[in-house]
Amino acid sequence: MNYRHAFHAGNFADVIKHAVLARVIDYMKRKDAPFRVIDTHAGTGRYDLASAEAGKTNEWQDGIGRLLQQEARLSVRARELLKPYLEAVSAENGGGVLKRYPGSPRLALRLMRPSDRLVANELHPEDAKALKAAIGKDRRARLLTIDAWAALRAQLPPKERRGLILIDPPFEQPGELDRIREGLTEGLKRFATGTFVAWYPIKDGRQIERWQRTLAAIKADKVLAIDFFLRKPADPERLNGCGLIVVNGPYTLQDELDTLLPELIGVLAEEGRGYFKITDVFSGKSRVEPASPR
Ligand code: SAM
Repeated sequence: MNYRHAFHAGNFADVIKHAVLARVIDYMKRKDAPFRVIDTHAGTGRYDLASAEAGKTNEWQDGIGRLLQQEARLSVRARELLKPYLEAVSAENGGGVLKRYPGSPRLALRLMRPSDRLVANELHPEDAKALKAAIGKDRRARLLTIDAWAALRAQLPPKERRGLILIDPPFEQPGELDRIREGLTEGLKRFATGTFVAWYPIKDGRQIERWQRTLAAIKADKVLAIDFFLRKPADPERLNGCGLIVVNGPYTLQDELDTLLPELIGVLAEEGRGYFKITDVFSGKSRVEPASPR
């Protein structure tokens, strides 16, 4: 386990993942009944953007740094949709300048209500220790330090019978895409009404398309693949974008993404080259849209 998220925290991929996560949690709060967030690969929970790790890549500058710089240029509707996410980032910094970035567990905790619950699972011993500190005494949260795929089996269904499961593997080992499909299949057997969000990197675009077709075997009401491209994936050695599989997502999500993604691409992708693609995995139908002009 060599992957450390501290090198990448707040980069374009985190912005996309966390903005969507915040939209899903925001939707779940429309009903009074409590829900549970299960974060299978939780990371350390919060990241110091002045750390040696973050400074080595400075990826956050082209992610959350750029979004905050250009926020005022976004449409009113996009700013409204990003509000819960950006308020959580701001709260992490005490309302001041950007120094710290919330990982998925702290983002979830900032968005959750007193009755909602979080299970944050992290296998790396050092990262798990940092995560414990990041969760602190928050009684809504429980820390687990087991293998993510075992955690998924052990934690489902949640007792609230309402839940969001975030699957965010490091993609260090081959076969991670297959493990995501198996994890979703297993998870849905135990918790058919759960909302599952799984993240993946896009290097080789064709490999991703082949994999997405295999997801049609998943048993769920709705499976969407949301692909965000910094540029055309011509060079499969580069990180050309990232994607999210959303299973049983809110019915409001597509409409929100139609507003949000072109604007986020306009801010985060290579100028004039970014685009996004939304695929309904069951019908195989895709829609490709370019960035909004900067
Ligand atoms: N979800 C976090 C966020 O959005 O802030 C980032 C998570 S990072 C991409 C992936 C994490 O998974 C790393 O912290 C890594 O140590 C952890 N990890 C790797 N393999 C794991 C496994 N088999 N089970 C649980 N955690 C694992």
